[in-house]
Amino acid sequence: MGVNIRFLGGAGTVTGSKYLVEHEGQRLLVDCGLFQGYKQLRLRNRDPLPVVPAQIGAVVLTHAHIDHSGYLPLLVREGFKGKAWCTPGTRDLCRILLPDSGHLQEEEAAYANRKGFSKHQPALPLYNVEDARESLKHLHAVPPHEVFEPLRGWRVRLSGAGHILGAASVLVEVGGKRLLFSGDLGRPDDALMHAPDAPPEADVVVCESTYGDRSHPQEDLLAELGPALARLAARGGTAVVPVFAVGRAQALLHAIAQLKARGGLPAALPVYLDSPMAVHTTELYEHHLGEHRLSAAQCRDMERAAHLVTSVEQSKAIALQRGPKLILAASGMATGGRVLHHLSQHLGDHRNMVVLTGYQAPGTRGARLAQGTATLRIFGQDWPVRAEVVQLASASAHADAGQLMAWLRQLPRAPHRVFVTHGDMEAADALRLRIEHELGWRALVPEHNSTWMA
Ligand SMILES: [Zn+2]
Repeated sequence: MGVNIRFLGGAGTVTGSKYLVEHEGQRLLVDCGLFQGYKQLRLRNRDPLPVVPAQIGAVVLTHAHIDHSGYLPLLVREGFKGKAWCTPGTRDLCRILLPDSGHLQEEEAAYANRKGFSKHQPALPLYNVEDARESLKHLHAVPPHEVFEPLRGWRVRLSGAGHILGAASVLVEVGGKRLLFSGDLGRPDDALMHAPDAPPEADVVVCESTYGDRSHPQEDLLAELGPALARLAARGGTAVVPVFAVGRAQALLHAIAQLKARGGLPAALPVYLDSPMAVHTTELYEHHLGEHRLSAAQCRDMERAAHLVTSVEQSKAIALQRGPKLILAASGMATGGRVLHHLSQHLGDHRNMVVLTGYQAPGTRGARLAQGTATLRIFGQDWPVRAEVVQLASASAHADAGQLMAWLRQLPRAPHRVFVTHGDMEAADALRLRIEHELGWRALVPEHNSTWMA
């Protein structure tokens, strides 16, 4: 009996990562992510999996981002009984992110019902906070580089992937095959995270390709952010910064702290971090010293760079407050969360600014803003966009095409096959071509729901 890989998500798209590995009737799911972005993709979250969750023996999570972990509450509710293995950092982040995701699902459904714009009557959340809390009981942390046996006869090892706190690549050894899943790979020059570990020997590599067709500019975050925010402060505007609560928010805070210390930003310019999730994540960095580049003192500076906002009342007060300020709020692609209220309050004024801080998946409000849309639909209403939109090129937590190739080149020997996943079609295909032409390895972009023999 061979080893099969079935691509249940992350194939031809950056979201919904789910790779099912099957061998002799045993099943392991690598990543358990939600589809995000285009409605057409999000609807896939509502389709039953082609495999009954009770027949999946174990889950291994590469990292805590919702497009890699956010389906776990549903998997558990639908009958999954096993453990979800991950690093301690991923476990701690999931404890913050998954209940928040349940909360967002509930809010979205409640809002749709209140406004009556859902086609489903009543709109039901995909899962709720209670489902999310229940799924946390299945998380089982293992330190990186330790071999564990999630299923009888299966050996699995996690290694550092950079990217965000706790992020890992996953090596699965089963049926005489070595399967390596890159997870999301960070950039070697990231301000917060260490460079990804060199990949171990493998027969099959499943490699992400978020930036498979692009190179990051040499410019650093400070050089990009400094002039934009100085321009904003000079015209007395407010910047709304949709942030990914994990990683980008902390990189931004770290940069803002440095800019203020150097005099690149007025020290008195109020900065708000309006996201309980981002606040809790920021505090987590101090508990995971050594797993990122910041010292204890730098962690504290980062926490002090902004007023940390957790209550809804405070959040509403900030949205209505006049005068220049920076508001960092989740979510990073403006798909939900408190940033929506801030955007609706500030988009219409040309003195204001929206700073997009990372990859914007097609179909999201962030992507529309990046494309220069004239109006933006928020909570069933179209808001005119007059604010300046700035997209930070340097703020990505992902390796670019050259850095992905450099990571692959470190493999001790050529793999039999590389599956290129976690990228839009263009990005995935561009990386596939580079792998074939520059490395001479067999590479392909799998179809959604396709199955391959390893
Ligand atoms: Zn990620």
